[in-house]
Amino acid sequence: MTRKFEGNRLLVATHNAGKLEEIADLLKDYGVSVVGAAEMNLPEPVEDGTSFVENARIKAHAAAKATGLPALSDDSGLEIDALDGAPGVYTADWAETETGRDFVMAMEKAHKAVLETGMAPPWTARFCCTLVLAWPDGHDEVFAGTMEGQMVWPMRGDQGHGYDPVFQPKGHDLTFGEMDRWAKNKISHRADAFRKFVAGCFD
Ligand code: IMP
Repeated sequence: MTRKFEGNRLLVATHNAGKLEEIADLLKDYGVSVVGAAEMNLPEPVEDGTSFVENARIKAHAAAKATGLPALSDDSGLEIDALDGAPGVYTADWAETETGRDFVMAMEKAHKAVLETGMAPPWTARFCCTLVLAWPDGHDEVFAGTMEGQMVWPMRGDQGHGYDPVFQPKGHDLTFGEMDRWAKNKISHRADAFRKFVAGCFD
């Protein structure tokens, strides 16, 4: 039985203002006010898990423990089947450079790695998003969302972020990078996980 969220204040364990805004919008009909990790001066914990759920748990439990509030976190990434699921939990790490994140470089790296396998397209892939809601008493609930599709080359579109220009969701002709932001947000792996989260903890 899924534990329901009963309070009116939810801590979102992210320093990303865009994510916070999206979550606040999603929960506005449930009388919940959201507060972000930056506002609470929370440090960013080391994400040294080897799965999306492990990393999401690290972030949610650290935030719940530090503040005494229920805390929601998410962890996401791209799994490419030809690469046995890589970059997976290391999706953001593949973009890391000495001067910040470079996603064009990360997409080129992924494309090169796929070519090296010798596998022909379609290069099936999926975006994954795992949400964890953790309570200060140590309980948590986990919700996983996915969006199936394929990695395409060359990059197409300049909307969105991260690996959006090389991901074409199943049943669509456009890449995430060519889609309007709101159209993408409705069908994304994050939307799938959020639907499950709201159905489990709020409805
Ligand atoms: P994290 O969940 O903040 O640890 O980051 C996961 C990484 O996956 C991000 O750096 C993004 O590049 C990538 N990612 C997750 N979701 C998406 C998406 O919807 N589009 C493009 N890239 C994404």
